Amino acid sequence: MSWYDDDFYHEPSEFEEQINALKESLMNSIKDEHKAELDRLRKENEGLQKVKRDWNNLQSEYAGKVRALSYEKDNLKRQVRNERLTELMQDFNIIAYRATTNRLAQPKCDKCDDYRKIKFFSPSGKVMSEECECSVGIKVFVPEEMQVAEFGISRDKTSMMAWYQRRYSDSDHYSSTQYAEHIYKPGTSFEELGNYFSVFFRDKEDCQRYCDWLTEQEAAKKKEC
Ligand SMILES: [Zn+2]
Repeated sequence: MSWYDDDFYHEPSEFEEQINALKESLMNSIKDEHKAELDRLRKENEGLQKVKRDWNNLQSEYAGKVRALSYEKDNLKRQVRNERLTELMQDFNIIAYRATTNRLAQPKCDKCDDYRKIKFFSPSGKVMSEECECSVGIKVFVPEEMQVAEFGISRDKTSMMAWYQRRYSDSDHYSSTQYAEHIYKPGTSFEELGNYFSVFFRDKEDCQRYCDWLTEQEAAKKKEC
């Protein structure tokens, strides 16, 4: 092989060098274009993500406002209804009485200690204690005042009359409690009355007498035991 051939095959010609340089610059420019396009897409995506976040925030803010408004509307409706009901009921409000229970503390007996406990020994010899009977209060009945609204249709106000009692002072809820058959008529014997909880009195004195009678009944029942 001559030096010429060698040179021909191994040394790149000027033309080839130019081609290579061109290829390289072309590759670089394509890479740059790609990079630029990727950067542009990344930025655009970031922007879109922000728009999405803002949109979601806006949506939940809107839903929150709708909820708050509906709550406020319900509240206002309740308030208006309550005021209307109060105004409507004010001419019908009366005071009635009903027997309710109370516990009256008993005087201390001489069998127990200062804490009304009685000490004793267990079979194994341990000191133990139990509540003394005198620590249990006596069940007594007392009149309870109640404000109720009354609607009557009979002239003597003893029959077909609906009574409504307000459940909570700030509530618009009136619940039906009793009818006239449970309103005490003076002269009726206490034995004839039903459950004390559903017997109403117009007069406090009558209710007090009924309470005293109930307390006596309770004491008699206890004696029997
Ligand atoms: Zn005692």
